[in-house]
Amino acid sequence: MTAELIDLTPYGGVEADAAWRDEVRALARERDAVLLAHNYQLPEIQDIADFTGDSLALSRIAAQSDASTIVFCGVHFMAETAKILSPEKTVLIPDERAGCSLADSITGAQLREWKAEHPGAVVVSYVNTTAEVKAETDICCTSSNAVDVVRSIPADREVLFLPDQFLGAHVKRETGRENLHIWAGECHVHAGINGPELAERAAADPDADLFIHPECGCATSALYLAGEGIVPSAQVKILSTGDMVTQAKATNAKSVLVATEIGMLHQLRKAAPGIEFRAVNDRASCRYMKMITPAALLRALREGRDEVHVDLDTAARARGAVQRMIEIGQPGGGE
Ligand code: SF4
Repeated sequence: MTAELIDLTPYGGVEADAAWRDEVRALARERDAVLLAHNYQLPEIQDIADFTGDSLALSRIAAQSDASTIVFCGVHFMAETAKILSPEKTVLIPDERAGCSLADSITGAQLREWKAEHPGAVVVSYVNTTAEVKAETDICCTSSNAVDVVRSIPADREVLFLPDQFLGAHVKRETGRENLHIWAGECHVHAGINGPELAERAAADPDADLFIHPECGCATSALYLAGEGIVPSAQVKILSTGDMVTQAKATNAKSVLVATEIGMLHQLRKAAPGIEFRAVNDRASCRYMKMITPAALLRALREGRDEVHVDLDTAARARGAVQRMIEIGQPGGGE
C-alpha cells in the first residue's frame, strides 16, 4: 500500500503543557525508556527528549543506552536502524505511519532486480532506506561520508548508488567515477529546496551564512547546487548537526540561511539567540516528521505502541552494511 492510501492524520487533542510533560517523564521512567528526538521533530518533542540529533547519532546513543526501551521520535527507517543496531531492546515509534518518501522510493525487490542487471556491483545505500533494502546493501552511507564510502571501493568495481539522485550526482562529480549508477529517487521535501530559490535568498542577503545540513535527504539538493556553484561557495557551510550548532555559536554572521527541514531552526535558535536564522524554504516541512505529536508520544508511552520489528535474518544482514558505514569516514554529526 502506498503512503497516499493511508490516513496520515496525526494523533491530536493533547496539549504540550506541564501536565503532559510530567506524565511523559513519569511513564518514561516506568518503562525504563530513553526518549530520542530527531532534529526535525516538533519543538515540544525535541524539548522533552533525553537526546536530540541526526538519525545515526541517535541510533548510536540508542545502542549505548542502558535503557531497555527506546522511544524513537522520528520516521520509521530511523527506528528500524535503532532496532538493527539494538535487536535486544524494545523500540517504539509513536506513530508507525511516519514514513519517508525517499526511503519509499526503492523496495527490496526493486533493488534485487537492479543488482541482477549489474552482477558484481557494490551496493551503496543512503541511510534513508528500509531494513529490507539495507539487508541487500554492501555499505550504507550518510550524506557526510558518501564520497569516502565510494572512494573506499576499488575503482574497477561498478557501484549502484541509491536512493537519492541528488546525493548520487554529488558523489559522482566528487569522485569522477563513470561506473557509478544512480537510482532516481528523491524526497518531496528536498525537491522543494530549489536552485533559483537558494540563489535568490543568498543574493538578497549577501552577508548571510548558508548552512546546509548533510544528513536527512532534504538537504542533498542544496548540497548539489552548492557544488555546482549556483550559490557562492564562500558563504556555503556544509555542516553536520553538531557542527551546525557549533558554527552557529562561532560565526560572526548576523543572519544565517538554513537549507534543510525547518525543524532544525529550533535547535539553532536555542544555541545562538542573537542570530537571525531563516529557512531557505519555509515550506520545507516533512509531514512524516510532524506526525510525532504530543498525543502520539503519550499513546506510545501509555500503550507501548507502535513497536518496531525487524526479523532477525534481515537485521543481521542489514547490520553489516550499517557497521561498515560507521567504520568509514565521519558518518554524520550530532554525537
Ligand atoms: S524530510 Fe524527506 S528524507 Fe527526511 S524523513 Fe522526511 S521524507 Fe524522508
